[in-house]
Amino acid sequence: MGPGEESGDALKVKSEKLKVRGGDVGGGAKPQAAGTEELSSTGEKSGGVGGAGGAVVLLSGGLDSATVLAMARADGFACHAISFDYGQRHRVELRAAHRVAEHLGVASHQVVTIDLRAFGGSALTDDALLVPKDRDEATMAGDVPITYVPARNTIFLSYALALAEVRGATDIYLGVNAVDYSGYPDCRPDYIDAFERMANLATRAGVEGQRLTIHAPLIDLAKVEIIEQGLALGVDYGLTHSCYDPVEDGEHRLGARPCGRCDSCVLRGAAFGKLGMVDPGIS
Ligand SMILES: [Zn+2]
Repeated sequence: MGPGEESGDALKVKSEKLKVRGGDVGGGAKPQAAGTEELSSTGEKSGGVGGAGGAVVLLSGGLDSATVLAMARADGFACHAISFDYGQRHRVELRAAHRVAEHLGVASHQVVTIDLRAFGGSALTDDALLVPKDRDEATMAGDVPITYVPARNTIFLSYALALAEVRGATDIYLGVNAVDYSGYPDCRPDYIDAFERMANLATRAGVEGQRLTIHAPLIDLAKVEIIEQGLALGVDYGLTHSCYDPVEDGEHRLGARPCGRCDSCVLRGAAFGKLGMVDPGIS
C-alpha cells in the first residue's frame, strides 16, 4: 500500500511543455529512452486560470482520461496525475498512463498501489469473470455491466482528494462519461455533485474555506465529441489504451494490443470511424 512509484519530483525537464495551450503539443509518439524515467516535473504552472496548487487528474491511460488531462492543462493548471495499480487484468494500462503523462507534460505523476482484486466482483479484477464481447451499443446501455468495478470511482476520487490536500490543489479532474456508459452508477452527474459536497465537508482545506471543485468535463459528451476536443488539444490517442481485455503483443508499442471486441473497443472504434479515422491505438 502507499505510493507505488515515481513521485516525479526528482526529475526536471523543460518547462516549455506546460506553456503550450490548445494544441501543438506534438501529436507524434516520441521515442522513449529505455531505462529512463518517463515522468516529468515541470515545476510551477506558467499562468492561466488554474489555481496555484495545480489540479489533480485521475489518469487511467485511456482515451477519456488523456482528454481530461489535456483539458485541465488547457485550463491553466499544473497537473498532478494519479494512476492506480489496482489489480486490473493488464499492466498495459499503466504503461499507457506513463506515456500519456509524459506526452502531455505533467507536474508530477504518482502510481498508487491498491488491491481491488481482494474483493473481485468485476471482470476487470476477477479472472473467473469474462469480459463481454461483440455487444452492440443498445445492449451495453441495458444494465450495469460486469466490467463495472465496485465503488472504483469513489475509491479513486478519495485518493485524489487526499493528494489534492497534500499538494494544495483546489481542483480534481476525472474523465467519467454518462453518455456511453450510462450503466455505470458512479459516472452520473448526481454522483459527482455529491462527492464534491462531501469533499468540502471532509477536508481541512474545505473547513478552512478553500473550496474544492470536481471537474467532469466529459460527462455529457459523446465519444466522438470527446475525441474531437482531444485532437484539438493535441492529444496523441495512439498512446492511449482503453481495452478491457488486451492481447499480449510484443510488436505493439505498449506491449499489448486492444481486443477490438469489448465494449470499450467497440465504442472507441465506432467513434473514430464516425470521424473517418482508424483508431490510432490499434496499430
Ligand atoms: Zn477490447
